[in-house]
Amino acid sequence: MSNPSTPFEIARETLKQLAVRRIAPTPDHYLTLYHEIAGSDPAQSSFPQHHLRALTAALPRNSPEQLGLIRRLEEHIKNSNWEGYRGTLCDFLNGLIEAQKINWSELISQLLQQWDARHQGLTSARKREMLEHVLNASSSNPETLYGRLQNLLKSWGEGLSGEFTATNINVTTGEQNASEGLDAALKNLLAFTLETVIAGQLAHEPRLAAEAHRLAAEVAQIHGNEGIEHCLGQFKRFAFKLELLAEDDQELRQSLLQLLQLLVTNINELVIDDRWLHGQIEVVREIIDQPLSQRSLDDAGRRLKEVLYKQSQLKASLFEARDAIKQMLAGFVDQLADFADTTSDYHNKIEVYADRISAANDISELESVIAEVMRETHNVQLNAQRSHDELRSAQEKVRQAEGRIRELERELEATSDLVRHDQLTGVLNRRGLDDMFAKEMARTRRHDSSLCVGLLDIDNFKKLNDSLGHTAGDQALIHLATVCRQTLRPQDSIARYGGEEFIILLPDTNLTEATHALTRLQRELTKRFFLHDNEKVLITFSAGVTEVLAEDDQTSVVNRADTAMYQAKQSGKNRVISA
Ligand code: GH3
Ligand code: MG
Ligand code: MG
Repeated sequence: MSNPSTPFEIARETLKQLAVRRIAPTPDHYLTLYHEIAGSDPAQSSFPQHHLRALTAALPRNSPEQLGLIRRLEEHIKNSNWEGYRGTLCDFLNGLIEAQKINWSELISQLLQQWDARHQGLTSARKREMLEHVLNASSSNPETLYGRLQNLLKSWGEGLSGEFTATNINVTTGEQNASEGLDAALKNLLAFTLETVIAGQLAHEPRLAAEAHRLAAEVAQIHGNEGIEHCLGQFKRFAFKLELLAEDDQELRQSLLQLLQLLVTNINELVIDDRWLHGQIEVVREIIDQPLSQRSLDDAGRRLKEVLYKQSQLKASLFEARDAIKQMLAGFVDQLADFADTTSDYHNKIEVYADRISAANDISELESVIAEVMRETHNVQLNAQRSHDELRSAQEKVRQAEGRIRELERELEATSDLVRHDQLTGVLNRRGLDDMFAKEMARTRRHDSSLCVGLLDIDNFKKLNDSLGHTAGDQALIHLATVCRQTLRPQDSIARYGGEEFIILLPDTNLTEATHALTRLQRELTKRFFLHDNEKVLITFSAGVTEVLAEDDQTSVVNRADTAMYQAKQSGKNRVISA
């Protein structure tokens, strides 16, 4: 017979050969002979495709990962790839085990994070509604609740508020009962969160804090589903109150900020004419216009303190000066009145004398009148001289008071322990730099992050001073400081280190990033010219940048940056070199 090709022909030929070859007709013999005739691999055809398909169809498909693995399993069945199937199935099962591991503390901290985070299209009220829905729909099964909460957080993170429906939170991690241990751990964690974390945050709301303590005590006592249901209700009400409180707090913060802005605007109008004060207030205003952070509030607070301090010092001297002027004016008016009295008296007397002169009959009569006129005139002259002298002395007092104000200003600048900002440019001065340096060093060590320091020196500044004048030089320094402040990040600090040298502290920045930041600053200066008499003046600088090392102190860091800056000068200026 021609080669059998259909299964039927092969089977018939197999039976025939069993008989011809006198082989016992056992199933094994039949199978071996069948494959010999068909020319196929016995291992391949024994692959239990049917069963594996049924098994694969029964696997859960709740996530894209699971769907991918199931597709791979189906592929292995099609190729009768047993090894592949086994490996992928193991992956699938491991995934299931991982998914079922419950980590409440992680989940709760994620929940807190996502609750505070802003999500487009998701208001706090909407989040609460979604969370309540999950809590209600998950009854008392911790695993179900865990899975649904995870999905909820994922949907917030992905901004799926619009598509969030009751159906896509129905993914479960199995409906088995939670183990006792898990229940206990969950209860402890909840009680701890209420007692320590939440109540601790509610010091200014004693009634809510007491409620948190009470709930914590109840959570610890929960037994059975009924207890959980009861507690959930209380939780919802408590969460609602917390949410209202958070909204109040937010409103309060906003009002405080507005108040601060109002205050700053008004201080600016009240402060006496002092460029440094106005500059500092402008900086405070810039700071509070940015998103609030602890760092920016600290900075605003420090600068406001300086403004108030300087303001109070100057005000005292101003009062002194004002009193002196008042005294002078009062004295002058008195003198004037005296003088007027004297002169009107004099005029009256002169009139009398004139009458007596015209009525005089002989010279001896006239002599006595002239003697009296001479005496009166002399008196008037003396009075005028006294008034003049007293006026002079009052003028001198005012001049002295003015001088004292100026002197005080100078003293204040030189000796004040409080002033930490440069009077000309408003950036930190040396003292401010020392403080900030210590603070940033400590922060960097605490957070194990990186801190970079840049030292920049304006190129050919002496030439600029010589050609445009010292005042233009001052304006150029102010311009550079302004561009620095506006180009660098709010958390970077800028300090005037010397005449035309500045130091920049760049926290959380590595050396490459710091070099880029300074190069960006150079580029920015070529775009934003310094204008002098409507002429564009290009300011360039040379800079050295270095990263703070574990063993560094301020001096060693600045020395390294200085050496690098010197190299930048040596190699042609207008460049940034990293050490
Ligand atoms: P180089 O490129 O090598 O740095 O040259 P340079 O001219 O910038 O450097 P040098 O150190 O020779 O000159 C710095 C000048 O800065 C000298 C000083 O008069 C001027 N200067 C220092 N402080 C001030 C200031 O507050 N205002 C003004 N207008 N000039 C200042
Ligand atoms: Mg210099
Ligand atoms: Mg210079």
